[in-house]
Amino acid sequence: MNAEELKKLVRNVPDFPNEGIMFKDLTTVFIRHDCLEWISEELYNLYKDCGITKIVGIESRGFIMAANLAIKLNAGFVPVRKKGKLPAKCREITYQKEYGKDTIQIHMDALNEDDVVLIHDDLLATGGTMAAAVNLVKKFNVKKIYVNFIAELDYLKGRSNFDNNIEVTSLIHY
Ligand code: AMP
Repeated sequence: MNAEELKKLVRNVPDFPNEGIMFKDLTTVFIRHDCLEWISEELYNLYKDCGITKIVGIESRGFIMAANLAIKLNAGFVPVRKKGKLPAKCREITYQKEYGKDTIQIHMDALNEDDVVLIHDDLLATGGTMAAAVNLVKKFNVKKIYVNFIAELDYLKGRSNFDNNIEVTSLIHY
């Protein structure tokens, strides 16, 4: 397996969830053990020397590899979820979407000042969701924040949302 092969295995679904959107469906990748293994190894090699203590996964497709990587890096896993899903006291942030607003939450006791955090999601599109997640994590005054995606839609320039001091990596690019 390599990045080019993985790219070919991602399913393109036109007009989902709205007309004009070409949805990159990673379930066709997650269903294959060889793809899971390749992604898992690539992520491990990228972050094994970064001293990561917590992996924050973005609901819901971000949970899959975030949890896997947490185990491999001897780190903890922390979910970021849409408002109303997490049971205990939360911090939250509201951000602008293409149509309307959205609020994401994280448990108040999930991170602390000693944490080195990797925030992971499956795909970088406009970057609005990840930028909000970064701002949410910043509220905990953690030591350092890294950001990772499996796939990035380069043409949407989502990277421009992040400061230079945040390292952003993606395994495949469109
Ligand atoms: P963003 O525009 O970067 O804030 O994307 C919001 C969320 O929707 C992310 O979690 C992405 O996984 C997902 N998403 C947005 N656009 C696409 C797309 N074209 N294909 C697959 N997932 C997408």
